[in-house]
Amino acid sequence: MNTTDIINHDKQDYFPVFARYDIVLDHGEGPYLYDTNGKQYLDYLAGIAVNIVGHNYPPLVKAIAEQASKMIHCSNLYYTEVQAQAAAKLKALSGMDKVFFANSGAEANEGAIKLARKYATAKDPEKIQIISALHSFHGRTIATLTATGQEKYHQGFGPLPAGFDYVPYGDINALTAKVTDKTCAILLEAIQGEGGVHIPSANYLKEVKTLCEKYDVLLIIDEIQAGMGRTGTFFAYQQFGIQPDIVTLAKGLAGGVPIGAFLSTNKLAHTFKAGDHGSTFGGNPLACAAANAVLTAIETEQLMANATTVGKYLLEQLSHLKTQYPTLITDVRGKGLMVGVELTKPGRDIVNHCLQKGLIINCTANTVLRFVPPLTITKEHVDQLITVLNDVLPTHID
Ligand SMILES: *Cc1c(COP(=O)(O)O)cnc(C)c1O
Repeated sequence: MNTTDIINHDKQDYFPVFARYDIVLDHGEGPYLYDTNGKQYLDYLAGIAVNIVGHNYPPLVKAIAEQASKMIHCSNLYYTEVQAQAAAKLKALSGMDKVFFANSGAEANEGAIKLARKYATAKDPEKIQIISALHSFHGRTIATLTATGQEKYHQGFGPLPAGFDYVPYGDINALTAKVTDKTCAILLEAIQGEGGVHIPSANYLKEVKTLCEKYDVLLIIDEIQAGMGRTGTFFAYQQFGIQPDIVTLAKGLAGGVPIGAFLSTNKLAHTFKAGDHGSTFGGNPLACAAANAVLTAIETEQLMANATTVGKYLLEQLSHLKTQYPTLITDVRGKGLMVGVELTKPGRDIVNHCLQKGLIINCTANTVLRFVPPLTITKEHVDQLITVLNDVLPTHID
């Protein structure tokens, strides 16, 4: 199929749920992607915070190839070495006590919600309420879209499961007003990603934790986007001095192979008994081999330190753009390599223009340019980004 055939086939055959851009991607190398015409793109999206070791990273490719030739899949009814290793590595890096592997972020959050409900309802059958934040994003399954505090994701999919409530993100008073002794868990992103890269104030998560302790409420932190070292620490919440009861991961965990995980402290270790949860594919040998390679790379390539240093430089350079184009850019915010640039207008035209210039970026929440590149990028890649933005942005000032 040539490029046009591919696009036409997709339009005829595939559910049109994605507002796709008109390029067909073919392969990648490091922080670069190439389309079917051989055009190079600098990748500041990384498959939406997924390709944390970049594209075609040799140790990841090798781990996947070797595992594929050995055993791609076997049932979770049996033990495998790669799964035991992945769980041990993840525990060591995260400081959590128990691990379960799923296949996606939504599934990880589903599992986290199940774990929280089982734990809390054993104490009181009415302790079912899950409170999440407005502008949050937790996934597309029925329970996780319900937990997602954005009306647009709910429309048409009712009846939604009961027991979900929402509060403005960052507002401890609003949260305090919602919590009762029927509250099971508070579910929050440590930094909101899809909602527009919103960072809470320094004390917010600590206050949330105190509230949780007071009312015997579980704290679930969704680190699916901000976790895996992206903000400079393994989890973003570590920069806010809290310890959640449950954490969820996915996106970057296996560098692009589908995976998700929820982790808990020992407090919840005995909640799930045999048969309470499961997955056919979750944590299969292929995904775990990939996760092992990524978790190893985080240490050997010092990806967290790199995210801190290069992220700081990225934030500085983008802040210069804000001074240069004050009528277009109203805010630049981020931690490590998770950065958002708030615009005074919708960003889709800018994203398209950047694509023409060989740069892949993303716009979320309509007006926020989001930068979530591989954690392997260098300052030179930041300079390349800024060069393109300096070329593109002035032509979008009204
Ligand atoms: C992407 C994302 C999810 C959903 O992950 P999927 O793998 O698409 O199901 C959940 N929470 C957050 C914070 C995310 O960024």
